[in-house]
Amino acid sequence: MIIDVHTHTPQFREHVPADKLVMNTTWRPDRAVAANYSWNDYMAAMGPVDRSIVFGIAWEPGERVGGTNGVGDAGDVADGVNNSTAAFVRAFPERLIGFMAVHPHDRKAMDEMERSRVDLGLRGVKLGANYQIFDPLESRALAIYQYAEKHGLPVLFHIGTSAVRMAPMVSAHPLVVDEIAMRYPDLKIIMAHMGHPWTVDSVVVARKHPNVFTDISGLFYRPYTFYEAMIKATEWNILDKVLFGSDFPIATPAETIAGLRNINAILEGTSLPRVPIDRIEQIIHRDSLSLLGLS
Ligand SMILES: [Zn+2]
Repeated sequence: MIIDVHTHTPQFREHVPADKLVMNTTWRPDRAVAANYSWNDYMAAMGPVDRSIVFGIAWEPGERVGGTNGVGDAGDVADGVNNSTAAFVRAFPERLIGFMAVHPHDRKAMDEMERSRVDLGLRGVKLGANYQIFDPLESRALAIYQYAEKHGLPVLFHIGTSAVRMAPMVSAHPLVVDEIAMRYPDLKIIMAHMGHPWTVDSVVVARKHPNVFTDISGLFYRPYTFYEAMIKATEWNILDKVLFGSDFPIATPAETIAGLRNINAILEGTSLPRVPIDRIEQIIHRDSLSLLGLS
């Protein structure tokens, strides 16, 4: 069983119209990435994966992009993005688990959480305080964590750097998660990307909090950074809290699995410590849904 805990909702059902084919060259150092993709593109990439967690992002309060059947007044919560994720999950219920996207500054954020959980069946929350530009410790954000903790919804935070100029990095530092986890000890939290480049900070936060996990998405294509993160996870003994994720479309699960299995390749000819390969296989096959209370 392979679970991918970190993937992004496709914007198109059938195929991407020619005028919407955009290749992004800044997300990865080694290849361009198709910024728009379809349900079919997504399912093809998920070939090696049994189940995947999928979500959109509520970029702004009232954000409505990506909606397949969103209706409502301007200023409503991110119903477009959540309806879009829910429609995709309904089409592949055996394969997909949907997380909701909300913006804490949305005046109807709490209603949208209730609607997404009860009516749409979404089972966790995706937040990126840097991209969404909110203070992750302000009261409107805390209300989201409190609701999620009460209803057993795991929260996946974008943690780590980004190239978006106006996304404040301080909001996505792993030490923010330490503060949240102390206040909401029963909240299941996934820190995305091992908090790159602050990977040792993520490692010590995960070590400290039983319900804080981290995912390895979006790391393998920076081989030294990835190795360094994983050797720190080994030395601090938190490899059993590292979850498999691809960050599709930025990387595919197949590439990510190959990158994991290849992690020690850069060490050839050195006596630097190796990441134990049996532990790598455990990460690839980890039952993350059980760990997150979603099985
Ligand atoms: Zn992502």
